[in-house]
Amino acid sequence: MTAHVQSTASLVDTLGEEMIETRRRLHRLPELGFQEVDTAALIAARLRAIEGVDEIHEGVGRTGVTALIRGARPGPVLLLRADIDALPIREATGAPYASTRDGAMHACGHDGHTAILLSVARVLAARRDRFGGTAFLVFQPAEEILTGAQAMLNDGVWDLAGGPIAAALGLHLSNWLPLGTVGVRSGPFFAAVDRFTVTITGKGGHGAHPDQAIDPIVTAAETILSLQRVVSREVPPVKPAVLSVCQVQSGTAFNIIPEEAHLVGTVRSFEAEVRRDVAESMERIVAGVAAASGARHRLEIEAGPPAVVNDAAMCDLVRRVAAPVVGQDQVIEAEPTMGGDDVALFLQRVPGCYFLVGSSDPSRGLDAAHHHPRFDFAEEALTTAATVFADAALSYLS
Ligand SMILES: [Zn+2]
Ligand SMILES: [Zn+2]
Repeated sequence: MTAHVQSTASLVDTLGEEMIETRRRLHRLPELGFQEVDTAALIAARLRAIEGVDEIHEGVGRTGVTALIRGARPGPVLLLRADIDALPIREATGAPYASTRDGAMHACGHDGHTAILLSVARVLAARRDRFGGTAFLVFQPAEEILTGAQAMLNDGVWDLAGGPIAAALGLHLSNWLPLGTVGVRSGPFFAAVDRFTVTITGKGGHGAHPDQAIDPIVTAAETILSLQRVVSREVPPVKPAVLSVCQVQSGTAFNIIPEEAHLVGTVRSFEAEVRRDVAESMERIVAGVAAASGARHRLEIEAGPPAVVNDAAMCDLVRRVAAPVVGQDQVIEAEPTMGGDDVALFLQRVPGCYFLVGSSDPSRGLDAAHHHPRFDFAEEALTTAATVFADAALSYLS
């Protein structure tokens, strides 16, 4: 075990420079969800150059890429996932490798994830005589808009794996954790994400004559406040849930009562039952408030991905291989988050572990939050991540 771990680490070390170069190249050319054309072309070209990587498919889920690495013996199929998309943010890092595309930025670290999985592919391809089964590489588009995994599933990604997929692994660089740590959590980890829209239709009129109108703004205000009951008064206190109204739109002038008001927001939860109960409470409250004021209502809830739920045995495997890489005490229990990640759709189908690799270094100013215009990460995390990812895959397939 020890010799095997050291050899992977030293192999990844030789790829460290290349990973940084790849990451920076991608960082300069960020592409938003489903527009990852240059990114996908780079991934496919790099995969084609690796001996032992087969069945490279482009255009899976519009801009996703998949490939296989077959071991020397028969065995299970392990899905390895990286997300590849950027965000609509204007970069403010001032880094020499900053985005050259105005209004787009790799502000979540997916440039790193892409470079990491390409290096893992190199390691696994070089070691394919030593494992059984198949590593199924999945470069997923459009994670930030939470629709890329579903697009790949709709496109039959499960049938490109060369056999039934038995398990899945994925990782996220994390500026919430210090460089040199690996965060693992079994069970519910990232929340289910739903988006809701409330439309309240009243009766427009003159601001001077509210008696002749049905004011949708007052109804919207009451609706916003009443919706606060859902989490505080209706969801069991021991079960996490969030309901946030994040957009309010209505009106055109100081003296016109508008016809409609629109609220947009998000609901986050971990359990299917809570998710369903919240939706029912919302409908009752929105309908009740609208009825009380004589307005009409429409509540639409768009279901996003479910919660990311990690498998205990797969988490143990990741902890076991991470310990010699970063040290036992640097393998930490990650906190659950109300953020979402559509890797959930893969982990819903097979047992897996989605884990975090610490990437913040405040001493170098590399600790801005994900999705911040100054987000950047400590690139040493790339080597740690690729080593743990490759070792976890080799361990599973051995
Ligand atoms: Zn993100
Ligand atoms: Zn992300």
